[in-house]
Amino acid sequence: MRLLEEKIKKDGRVINENVLKVDSFLNHQIDPQLMNEIGKEFAQRFAAEEITKIVTIESSGIAPAVMAGLYMKVPVIFARKRKSVTLTDDLLTANVHSFTKNETNELAIAAKYINDSDKVLIIDDFLANGQAALALVEMVQQAKAAIAGIGIVIEKSFQPGAQKLKNKGLRVESLARIASLSNGEVTFNSEKMEELV
Ligand code: 5GP
Repeated sequence: MRLLEEKIKKDGRVINENVLKVDSFLNHQIDPQLMNEIGKEFAQRFAAEEITKIVTIESSGIAPAVMAGLYMKVPVIFARKRKSVTLTDDLLTANVHSFTKNETNELAIAAKYINDSDKVLIIDDFLANGQAALALVEMVQQAKAAIAGIGIVIEKSFQPGAQKLKNKGLRVESLARIASLSNGEVTFNSEKMEELV
């Protein structure tokens, strides 16, 4: 997605060879116009699937997921990172180790929000080692719902997450795919492709 790649080039900050900071439009301050375009793009890519629910993870997945839900006209559920006192019903749960925070959280979704007649689109902001997406997959499977695919805003293709998900037969649609963060610079897979043409 060209608009997103341009935004990453302009406002993203390469922290090191593995981490990109996008606090100015996705992870802290949020650019609603960009989120709107992201939601539209996810809805177009998954238009052929009869998706009934979107599942994401708090907090940075919520903005793109809600925009996708708006276009797809389906509810959005976000997995909570700690069991809150109000989240005491039947729960779908999984553990996730955070790539950036280096901590493990238990994720929980109230079981009543997903059931075996649902077809779920999973959305997240980043895909690195795949831990967050795999935890969401596990929870959706606990509910015996079908998974239409995984929509990712920024995939770091040099890390193994995307391949792990594809190996499980899951469809992965990433709007920006980063080939490398070397030398303080973002290089997209699309740029590498252009070099070959
Ligand atoms: P994974 O579970 O795929 O290893 O990592 C995905 C999660 O870690 C995302 O939900 C995101 O919050 C965080 N994350 C992974 N890599 C990055 C990164 O380069 N920058 C930022 N800001 N977050 C990241």
